[in-house]
Amino acid sequence: EWVDFTDFLSRIIDRFEMTKRENVRFTRILPRKSLFVEIDGDKMTQVIDNIISNALKYSPEGGEVIFTLFEENGKITVSIKDEGIGIPKENLEKIFDRFYRVDKARTRKLGGTGLGLAIAKEMVNAHGGNIWATSEEGKGTQIILTLPYEPSEEGEWS
Ligand code: ATP
Ligand code: MG
Repeated sequence: EWVDFTDFLSRIIDRFEMTKRENVRFTRILPRKSLFVEIDGDKMTQVIDNIISNALKYSPEGGEVIFTLFEENGKITVSIKDEGIGIPKENLEKIFDRFYRVDKARTRKLGGTGLGLAIAKEMVNAHGGNIWATSEEGKGTQIILTLPYEPSEEGEWS
């Protein structure tokens, strides 16, 4: 289905904004224009939901979560950045493996199975996109995903 990703992402953020802890702040850096992409909306919702719930799970009191969306060079890029505990460099790639969780003791009490990002990677790749993480321990984590985007397609309908 064709989806305006700007609107799509805004609505997901709105949904989390209503239920999140009050002392975690959301900041949005979104384009003013529509960005139409052909995606499976339900699956992509699951992907974004998991990334945001991870960001909230590991955010400290008073932390900020920054959402960024832009289009460039035939793709859209989505970034979700938190100020949480971060992930050690040597584990950065493994977080996309099934059942992988960085620190069993640390994460056990926070719940989850370790499947969220593995599923996210499968779905993003199936859409022709990529997903990866950057992080600094103790400072925060940034999850970045890209999806193919053809600028010409939207004008035809407006
Ligand atoms: P599930 O998503 O299945 O409920 P989960 O959240 O533990 O469980 P993933 O979403 O796949 O699993 O994440 C894998 C692991 O990567 C997490 O257990 C955590 O250790 C680490 N991780 C993911 N996102 C963050 C983040 N924003 N900050 C710190 N660590 C993270
Ligand atoms: Mg998760």
